[in-house]
Amino acid sequence: MPNDNVPIGIIGGSGLYEMPGLEEPQWRRIETPWGAPSDEVMVARLGDRRVAFLPRHGRGHRILPSELNHRANIYALKTLGVRWIISLSAVGSLREHLEPGTFLIPSQFYDRTKRSAEHTFFGGGIVAHIGFAHPVCGTLQRLLFEIAQSSGPASLGGTYVNMEGPAFSTLAEAEENRRAGFDVIGMTNLGEAKCAREAEIAYATVAMVTDYDCWHPEHDHVSVALVLDCLRKNAERARRLVADAVPRIPLDESCDCHRALKNAIMTPRHLWPKERAGMLGAILAPYL
Ligand SMILES: [Zn+2]
Repeated sequence: MPNDNVPIGIIGGSGLYEMPGLEEPQWRRIETPWGAPSDEVMVARLGDRRVAFLPRHGRGHRILPSELNHRANIYALKTLGVRWIISLSAVGSLREHLEPGTFLIPSQFYDRTKRSAEHTFFGGGIVAHIGFAHPVCGTLQRLLFEIAQSSGPASLGGTYVNMEGPAFSTLAEAEENRRAGFDVIGMTNLGEAKCAREAEIAYATVAMVTDYDCWHPEHDHVSVALVLDCLRKNAERARRLVADAVPRIPLDESCDCHRALKNAIMTPRHLWPKERAGMLGAILAPYL
């Protein structure tokens, strides 16, 4: 298993297809047993730390949320040695006080996708059930919030509801999501977070509010133009946040996220089908 000792991964969402400012950038094509990731992965350096950057939708934005291969994306980062992922994602706000421009660091995800079978590395003869009550790494979440706070409006906690897309919500859906108590809405993070947890990678999201979805009577309904306009204004803040966060991530293995599979695998090792175990190689390595 290749492991290049790149401990930190960054996944950039809409509007974040490059990470200028990283040193010695090198785009690498990585094939995984789960297929190809969204794009080549940029391996670079930030100070004395190595980081890997992956544009979630590919450079040029070519991949729909429901077409994303989260398994390949996470597995590619895993093979580089990534133990911590900062996810940068554009979201719509479902709350008056979460104005466009706010960076929310959510605590929870809620799944409204129809693709949960694609959001796991397990199956095919090897069964595992990871704990996912707290889908976000608390250590990374607090660090990202502390830094986000120093550069503009920021909010800690709350729930990100993951819709299927690609169309934005109907008004009825937006109202229902508000009644359910959700705070922001996006199309990508749930599957990504689940695969990261199975891969024992600590994961947290910076949800960058770009619009008020379609429920707010005094604001324009969400559109691509509105999202991109807000993202352009936020991209520099997001890059600075990453640059400030990377040196402060504790690179020890103190977090439970790094042991998520410890008591999660049901199938005894002697029953693991060889082919599937091979596909899970980078993930199962600590348990062999
Ligand atoms: Zn953690």
